Amino acid sequence: MRSVGVLLASVVTGCAAPRTGTAPVPARAQPAPSAAARESLHADVVYPAVTDVIQSHDSAFLFGSVRGASAGAGPASLTIDGRPVPLRANGAWIAWLPLPDDTLARFRLVAHSGPDSNVTLFAARVAPQYRPPADRAAWIDTTSFTPAGSLALPPGEGILLTVHAAPGASVRLQLPWGSSVPLVPDSLPVEPPRGVRAFSTDTAAFRLPHAAGRYMGWLPAAAMCADGRTACATLTVAVGGDGASARWPLTVNTLDLTFPTVVVLNDDTAHTGTTDSLTPGRAVPHGTYNWFFPTGTEATLSGRWNDQARLQLSRDAVAWVNADEVVPLSAGTPPPGGVVGSVRLSPGPKSVILRVPLPARLPFQVTEHDRALTLRIYGGASDINWMQYGGTDPLVRRMSYAQPASDEVTITVDLTRRVWGYRARYDGRDLLLEIRRPPEIAPDHPLRGRTIVLDPGHPPLGATGPTGLWEPVATLAVALKAKRLLEGAGATVFLTRTDSTPLELYPRTHFAEMHDADVLVSIHANALPDGVNPFTNNGTSVYYFHPRSAPLARALDRALVAELGVRDLGMGRGDYALVRPTWMPAALTEGLFIMLPDQEAMLGSEDGQRRYARGLARGIENFLRERAREP
Ligand SMILES: [Zn+2]
Repeated sequence: MRSVGVLLASVVTGCAAPRTGTAPVPARAQPAPSAAARESLHADVVYPAVTDVIQSHDSAFLFGSVRGASAGAGPASLTIDGRPVPLRANGAWIAWLPLPDDTLARFRLVAHSGPDSNVTLFAARVAPQYRPPADRAAWIDTTSFTPAGSLALPPGEGILLTVHAAPGASVRLQLPWGSSVPLVPDSLPVEPPRGVRAFSTDTAAFRLPHAAGRYMGWLPAAAMCADGRTACATLTVAVGGDGASARWPLTVNTLDLTFPTVVVLNDDTAHTGTTDSLTPGRAVPHGTYNWFFPTGTEATLSGRWNDQARLQLSRDAVAWVNADEVVPLSAGTPPPGGVVGSVRLSPGPKSVILRVPLPARLPFQVTEHDRALTLRIYGGASDINWMQYGGTDPLVRRMSYAQPASDEVTITVDLTRRVWGYRARYDGRDLLLEIRRPPEIAPDHPLRGRTIVLDPGHPPLGATGPTGLWEPVATLAVALKAKRLLEGAGATVFLTRTDSTPLELYPRTHFAEMHDADVLVSIHANALPDGVNPFTNNGTSVYYFHPRSAPLARALDRALVAELGVRDLGMGRGDYALVRPTWMPAALTEGLFIMLPDQEAMLGSEDGQRRYARGLARGIENFLRERAREP
């Protein structure tokens, strides 16, 4: 799909964030071996780079290395703004520093080596914050209007408004037709930055001061500020005899659901042929993925907010999708829906296929349980008179259906084994749910005969360590070592990339599916988002997305912690493209933090790479053995 994987990965993960730009660290002038041409002593800053804008406001990390230290002069040292910063023998350092209340943070780095010393003045950009005027009692933070932009909703549907303005004020939104709605103070504490919530293990970081001057209100949708024909809404703030007002930058159009717009989903409107042909659906605009709709799925449009479109899946369910993946059908097209007919299973050598006849390409969702899959069809009413098993299949225990709402049907397939993988697609109007047969695993040689796909994370993107080690270089080296270990134990191993050529995310997961991988593991090295203390938040973590991959993630986490000997941050469920495939268990490992000098050194060394590789091989083997022993 259009860049969604990259987008989400870069928002959610540290290591996938374009921390130091999209290119590898350029070939810096490497010190020449001869003493005469030796690089002069200085402190190099790798992060933040000139293009980076620090997103936190109280503290930030800087990292880099001291270069050009004279060989015979004993250990070099570094201070930043007078504070000593520990240096590794290779010159690498990381520091956690307070930030000034400004958009420019200046640091004085002083490196010493024997008789030499060098001062580097370094300036980093910090994201601007709104500053209330000192000479006014009444003010409005005009950067804080939410929602802003263009919104389309059915008339009367409530819109939650939030804004930051002078504390203790009387705040109202004056509507173009003469009335107004009040905004009330929101007395709960400020929400910490998203990265802190997701990645800080220190809950003290969640405790922020109470929000002074946050207001919220409720606006029923009506045409406002639209197409230059209707007037706009104005926020007024009154406090202590002073007043301020500003136009709320929001356009509201109303959507007529009496004659609904029906749309078809197409994530490849440009016909590039390079998409995964799925449109992700989210419970909130730009939220995490909750549905995966194949191209051709039809639904009714029930709202829009800027570049996001809201689909009415059934009376009670809605999903937000990217508006540019939505193509309207001819006016007058009836909303998709109708009767779900009798279903049939067809057994095949590597899978069993459930065929569900539908009146249209209705939106659906597959939910996993340990030994069952449930297919929820939106906009359908069941007339499933027959559920045909087509012979006795060792994988299928029972089928059942239910009608949990007047326009939602569920079909559940109970299995005799734990779910290994599945995929769903449309064949004409029939929805096919293909359920994969688990591989036959020998408990004493769990890797023998297995197909493993290893994905060396990045490029594009990838984090960079203090001395310039680039994540994709380390992940490829680890993957090559793990491949040899797994092959030695009888597995067939494919790597999604074997050189430095950038490879997007979809070709990687497609590669794993084309090879019918039994297991997919994506290998990464971690970095943190701005504002998270790297000294208290680092270690090994492993991510999965679908429930059936949790045991794989746990086995990998345990094995990697044992091999690498760093802190166990635990496994997590994360919305990464490389763990979303449904055809096999998949996990993404963040074995070490490349931004920390010691862990960067491990990632760059033969021994560290071998340990990471051993953790991967043992984790995969332990997961397969556990599966082989299940009843
Ligand atoms: Zn990464």
